[in-house]
Amino acid sequence: MNMDKMQHGHRRMLAVFAHPDDETFICGGTLAKYASEGVEIKLVSATRGEMGRRMGNPPYLNRETMAAAREMELRQACDHLGVSGLEFLDIRDKTVEFIDEEWLVGQIEQLMKDFRPDVVLTFHETLGGHPDHCAIGKVTTKAFRRAGQGNLYFISFGDRMLQPERYGYTAQDIVAVDVQACLKAKLAAFRAHRCQSEIDEWVWQRDDQALRHFGRYEYFIRGSRPQVSVSSMENDLFTPVLM
Ligand SMILES: [Zn+2]
Repeated sequence: MNMDKMQHGHRRMLAVFAHPDDETFICGGTLAKYASEGVEIKLVSATRGEMGRRMGNPPYLNRETMAAAREMELRQACDHLGVSGLEFLDIRDKTVEFIDEEWLVGQIEQLMKDFRPDVVLTFHETLGGHPDHCAIGKVTTKAFRRAGQGNLYFISFGDRMLQPERYGYTAQDIVAVDVQACLKAKLAAFRAHRCQSEIDEWVWQRDDQALRHFGRYEYFIRGSRPQVSVSSMENDLFTPVLM
């Protein structure tokens, strides 16, 4: 049913993450790449990241001002990446795991039914690296299984998935997206997340120097089965899946 749409028509991607900056720091190149190819991308952030430990350098934010500042930064980052839709689930930072799971699954399932994404990105529920990440990944995975369409992928940090065996996966479970052409947009989005990125000196070096800190590939773990048989690492998130 989705084959025709994916080959010829308008493509949609839904990314469901926990905090402002998850999208940029982990998979900003991929979002920019698909946006530049005309994919409509909606980003859902569970929280506004108001409990973040980085308060600016020197500190200029406090717990009261942080949510609005990070929301604004995220909107700027989305502009740089080409992400056209942004929604918040209005959950308090660091509490995603305590939200009623059924309610949250229902919210995300409804988003999927309304937006009808071809590709869903979220965190892996055990490899997410932060309780909020794992929690949003778990409920998004459940919602995906219910809504039942498109491809599901789990984002992963850096080049960990160059060695998928260490995490119980094989090369066929991994998609490596070449983001070389989109690293400038990723850097601009990093800088938009100023209160989080400004203590990282490399981000503010000259562009050509800063860009060297990014890898050429961003890696994704399959959360749904590929329809075509894959013998090695794929490079496209829109390869049709068999449901
Ligand atoms: Zn995060």
